[in-house]
Amino acid sequence: MKRDWMVVVAAAVVLLGSCRPEVGKVETLFDGTGIEPWRAEAAPGTFQLEGNELVCSGGPGTLVWEGGRTFRDFVLEAELKTEPGAFALFHFHQARPFDARVSQGYAVVVANTPCTMEEPALAMKSGSLYGVRHVYFPMVRDGEWFRLKVRVSGNQAETWINGVRVMEYIQPAQPWRGEENAGRLFSEGTVALQLTSGTMRMKSCRVELLPPGEALPLRVDEAWDATVTRMMEEGFPLIDFHTHLKGGLTIEQAIENAQRLGINYGIAPNCGLKFPVTNDVSLAAYMDTVAGKPIFRGMQAEGREWITLFSPGAVARFDYVFTDALTFTDARGRRNRLWIPEEVWVEDKEQFMDQLVGKIEAIMSQEPVDIYVNPTLLPDALMPDYDRLWTPERVARVIRVLKENGIALEINARYRVPSAAIIKAAREAGLRFSFGTNNAAADLGQLEYCLQMIDSCGLTPREMFLPPVHEKKPVLIKGLPDKITG
Ligand SMILES: [Zn+2]
Repeated sequence: MKRDWMVVVAAAVVLLGSCRPEVGKVETLFDGTGIEPWRAEAAPGTFQLEGNELVCSGGPGTLVWEGGRTFRDFVLEAELKTEPGAFALFHFHQARPFDARVSQGYAVVVANTPCTMEEPALAMKSGSLYGVRHVYFPMVRDGEWFRLKVRVSGNQAETWINGVRVMEYIQPAQPWRGEENAGRLFSEGTVALQLTSGTMRMKSCRVELLPPGEALPLRVDEAWDATVTRMMEEGFPLIDFHTHLKGGLTIEQAIENAQRLGINYGIAPNCGLKFPVTNDVSLAAYMDTVAGKPIFRGMQAEGREWITLFSPGAVARFDYVFTDALTFTDARGRRNRLWIPEEVWVEDKEQFMDQLVGKIEAIMSQEPVDIYVNPTLLPDALMPDYDRLWTPERVARVIRVLKENGIALEINARYRVPSAAIIKAAREAGLRFSFGTNNAAADLGQLEYCLQMIDSCGLTPREMFLPPVHEKKPVLIKGLPDKITG
């Protein structure tokens, strides 16, 4: 009897093995000649063949691939183009009949329109694994054809935009899932294209079958994986807008770190007098080094004279601009740099605070920036008195100038500022917030203080900063003043 079973098992192995020649086979899902065997689940008018393109417009609607075969491990490649406001999802590992309301398998986002976190569901960009790992930085613009590639192997999904990897996710053995998304798991199934809004065009779509993938070990600890996934399900952007290539950190290492942790990075050079980026020419040279990289491109504006060194058009090439109020010249002509104890002059703490608040007001009202970083940080000697020195009146003045100028308040992970009390007051006033590390070394940490503040202060996705659309950049609206006062 036992022998018979062995024969059956052996036969099964041979049968399974006979499927192997399919590995490497390419299945064309769309080549411009017809929509069949895709089938519209609802709103069939949403999907039309125009010339050689599949036009998905109007929506919402879903198109399911009914080609007979199912996919487990594969590489999907599609040529796509979006128009402003488009939001679509490539679902995979889906059951038939497909039901978008039922949680099963995963979906990759197609969306390229810049927007604020007021629409958290639309804020994520192409290449995001919906509700699991989100990409917020723009890789392509509406109106441009681009190539989306999705690779699924074992317990890993990766996405590329125009050949640049933007996202990696490794599913743990016991992944964290919200109640409604328990079925968000790798399995096997078909592909479905769901249009939520706007217009998306597809020129081609093909799937290459891969051999069964291995289960990869997690590259982060399980608690972190669960934290990130929970934030993504809630639509909470996990972005560190204030990182630097310092301490030997290369851009490749930063990107690897970002995709391993599930954090989007904004990488910023220091720009100003006696810094590597000091005029339009060096700014352009820097931009060449980060062109096409899967990051946000930030500008740290240094000193107060930076506004005299660059043209608005050059500054606007950055996704956003930030500055702090740690460098200023005091009433006696001394250049203070608050993070260097030897370069700070505090004769009287109260007077120093009043002067500092005045400097913050002058900087934030006159310099065209998006984010106030290292906010409320005091010289080392004053930090023990932080809560006493930041009186409600002083805090209110800082919040008012940020509010009036539409500037976001950074929650800084390295210095652990501002205090929860100040963040709560800023929330009350309707400010937006960004997370930032301001790393001095290669280790970027994991935004520990920022994540604590989400809980302590009840922050919501809608209160978080995203870079403005080009036309609304402060430097293009305000311009650059000739001379700064105060
Ligand atoms: Zn910095």
